[in-house]
Amino acid sequence: ASQAEEKDLVIIGGGVAGYVAAIKAGQEGLKVACIEKRGALGGTCLNVGCIPSKSLLNNSHLYHQILHDTKNRGIEVGDVKLNLKDMMKAKDTSVTGLTKGIEFLFKKNGVEYIKGTGSFANEHEVKVALTDGGETSVRGKNILIATGSEATPFPGLEIDEKRVITSTGALSLDKVPEKMIVIGGGIIGLEMGSVWSRLGAKVTVVEFLNQIGGPGMDTEIAKQAQKLLKKQGMEFKLGTKVVSGESSGELVKLEVDSAKGGKPETLEADVVLVAIGRRPYTAGLGLENAGLEVDDRGRVVIDSEYRTKASHIRCIGDVTFGPMLAHKAEEEAVAAIEYIKKGYGHVNYGVIPSVMYTHPEVAWVGQNEQELKDKKIPYKIGTFPFSANSRAKTNLDTDGMVKMLADPETDRLLGCHIIGPNAGEMIAEATLALEYGASTEDIARTCHAHPTLAEAFKEAAMATYSKAIHF
Ligand code: FAD
Ligand code: NAD
Repeated sequence: ASQAEEKDLVIIGGGVAGYVAAIKAGQEGLKVACIEKRGALGGTCLNVGCIPSKSLLNNSHLYHQILHDTKNRGIEVGDVKLNLKDMMKAKDTSVTGLTKGIEFLFKKNGVEYIKGTGSFANEHEVKVALTDGGETSVRGKNILIATGSEATPFPGLEIDEKRVITSTGALSLDKVPEKMIVIGGGIIGLEMGSVWSRLGAKVTVVEFLNQIGGPGMDTEIAKQAQKLLKKQGMEFKLGTKVVSGESSGELVKLEVDSAKGGKPETLEADVVLVAIGRRPYTAGLGLENAGLEVDDRGRVVIDSEYRTKASHIRCIGDVTFGPMLAHKAEEEAVAAIEYIKKGYGHVNYGVIPSVMYTHPEVAWVGQNEQELKDKKIPYKIGTFPFSANSRAKTNLDTDGMVKMLADPETDRLLGCHIIGPNAGEMIAEATLALEYGASTEDIARTCHAHPTLAEAFKEAAMATYSKAIHF
């Protein structure tokens, strides 16, 4: 018999899914250990995802605004210069502050942090190759897999994170590329493409589909987003697939083709960002030693209570089904611990917001028009443009609109799609409304402070069953 120490719960992976589960388990009085191999907690999101990208998005936006959008505000600026090294330093400071914060929360909640790579020895035991050398092993009454995802590589293009990069390389380039080609017009391509375009690169996005934004974005909103990003200098090649690529010397060459077939074309750039999606990460995890299965897309197979084939082993976050989003991973973490501790838990997968942090931001929750059409669900629309919103006017930031989809009979909110300033904050209100089954009339009859951007949200709701006042 193994001498390994036994815990109530062993978590493999210290990303959002794993660390939130660990803290929640500690709060619930479970004896818990969390194994993480990257040398820092917080996973993709905190180290090479959500957090560093938002730091660069925020600061590159400020830089771009100071360069191009001050004169009409009565602000005269002198010599504006980019100090890329310091911009990266600001990003690193945000990241380190947050990852260290999680270590503190681990201590506070009695979570044991094991630094190393975990793999199943068998159904109950996880071996750990320790980061500082040596090996240990832990047994778990329960085990939670939260090993996350990695960038999907493009066949034939070797990633060196300098010329051919994933989002990770795009978060730490040491100079602004002259020409950047982004393969994939999803969220990563548009967020990271925006950063480098604002800092001075000529960015071209090549997207296989006829619409940017990745899965879920409403077509009307995606069209507006593309128009506004184009105005900022980004170029788009839609309905175009990258067939092959090669990196030689200073340049990367890509062969592209119209998605419907047609004349091939060669594109060249000094940096190519591969942003064609992410895939579940289970390499070296030894799933076979615990008899666990993955599906044809590499996702660990689970039931509605996050249980794998072995009922004491659960799995959450990017490595299993559902949208690859940090807040989805966080909801699942809390629910999984509740299942373990209390026997019940819940995540409402119909009400998970999405935000693209470009400028303007794009945010949505619930169903889009295409989805409602496909399901033959009747709907009515209410819209309100930010150009008619007083706060957006005072901010000289009026691009975009709020679009609401509601049930024609009951006014029940079915979906909300926003492109505009602070859309990512405003979508929280729509999310709450949707979760509570609110009608658009409930929203429109709720007093909203003036002057705020959120009044556009209220007026779009009003427009679904009556008329907006200010448009
Ligand atoms: P991860 O965060 O990937 O964490 C898994 C962890 O497990 C990793 O740290 C890994 O090192 C560790 N691990 C793996 N295998 C082992 C092993 N065998 N032993 C020990 N440790 C192991 N989502 C949003 O909601 N909002 C955003 O703004 C956003 N921005 C993003 C920007 C970028 C550039 C990227 C790439 C992603 C972004 N995401 C965003 C997605 C978000 O990062 C993920 O959905 C989230 O990180 C998933 O959390 P997770 O814990 O499931 O996986
Ligand atoms: P994505 O799936 O959102 O977009 C990938 C895009 O690449 C798709 O539009 C697809 O049609 C296109 N594509 C695929 N192969 C192609 C080819 N050969 N040529 C041209 N285009 C091609 O994936 P992503 O943008 O890489 O993001 C990965 C994950 O990370 C997503 O699940 C996303 O939700 C998450 N993420 C979220 C945020 C956020 O919430 N703000 C930010 C970054 C990443």
